[in-house]
Amino acid sequence: MSNIRINLGPRSYDIAIVSNDPTGLTSFVEERCPRSRSALIISDEHVHQYMLHFAAALADAGLRVEQAVLPAGEATKCLAQASHLYDRLAEMPADRQTLIVAVGGGVIGDLAGFVAATYNRGLPLVMIPTTLLAMVDSSVGGKVGINHPKGKNLIGAFHQPAGVWIDIGTFNTLPEREYRSGLAEVVKYGVVLDAEFFAFVERNADAILKREPEAIRHVISRCCRLKADVVEKDEREETGLRAVLNYGHTFAHTFETAGGYGHWLHGEAVAAGMVCASRLTERLGLISAEITQRLIELLQKFQLPVGPEPWPAEELIAIMRRDKKAHAGLLRFVIARQLGQFELVEASAEQVTAVIASFHGQG
Ligand code: NAD
Repeated sequence: MSNIRINLGPRSYDIAIVSNDPTGLTSFVEERCPRSRSALIISDEHVHQYMLHFAAALADAGLRVEQAVLPAGEATKCLAQASHLYDRLAEMPADRQTLIVAVGGGVIGDLAGFVAATYNRGLPLVMIPTTLLAMVDSSVGGKVGINHPKGKNLIGAFHQPAGVWIDIGTFNTLPEREYRSGLAEVVKYGVVLDAEFFAFVERNADAILKREPEAIRHVISRCCRLKADVVEKDEREETGLRAVLNYGHTFAHTFETAGGYGHWLHGEAVAAGMVCASRLTERLGLISAEITQRLIELLQKFQLPVGPEPWPAEELIAIMRRDKKAHAGLLRFVIARQLGQFELVEASAEQVTAVIASFHGQG
């Protein structure tokens, strides 16, 4: 088992990484939540088979375990499902130490985490992520929430888990497209935070694509460490540092809106968004085209999109302006001046339009 510690004073916690081994979960939970006597374990219909293993491990820790299996997909991250889970907790009945266990991707983690943050003014939470995206990103850092019809993640909280249990054995059933989409976030960490890690991903792209345990384990632990370093310095997004994790995301959110949710998976939009951010950095005269080329080659290896579809640039700019990152007429972006180094820049709508147009031979 490898272990990564996130140091946040009284909210510090560990991320354990194992391979096909639910047995250690019993002591992991006992050590972190010694006062819990009951647990609500929450998953979706695609991963409930893993939930059964984990539920057995929790029962071995002496917990009375209840299970909730929700429909898979982004639509589950809503107030109605949160309310359903509150009902389940009230029926148990839950006490202040009842453990919430999220087994699933970012949707289940965000929803279950939000319920844990709000029921009884806060219940202990253990995250058991089962998608690559959830392992390297959403299960770490304490951001939890649900969607509102007017916007994604509009209702939320910061609620750090008591622990994160990553079993890479759960990858066996993860669909290829979901896996590749998660790789976009992996590449992101390399671009903005760690040039050596970017080179590792380049060198080991084939092993990573084949989901070889040794390569995967290094990828996950390095990404978790990099995210932990950022979260430790800016836990509640107050200093601006945590914005680094949004590299490529201003463009990505725009593409997700333009294409309609579901057209591209989040990581696919992030991949295209990172290439746009890199092209913008070139246009601002801050990097050479060589870095963008390396990024494109790696993303292509992972069969991820490397530019936007031919959506009209004016439409994309209008969406971007509505994005919360638009500021005094200028648009804000995280950029990498070189691999492993990020900064925040502002660009005009004309500069961004030129970048978008360049993908379709108009720039
Ligand atoms: P997801 O949770 O919808 O999972 C993707 C699909 O894979 C689902 O159909 C799910 O049922 C299935 N699945 C999950 N694990 C599986 C497995 N092991 N085998 C077979 N099928 C499996 O999506 P996601 O990409 O994990 O997460 C996206 C969500 O994460 C979004 O709502 C996003 O807003 C959120 N997010 C949150 C943060 C954060 O910091 N809180 C960060 C990034 C993303």
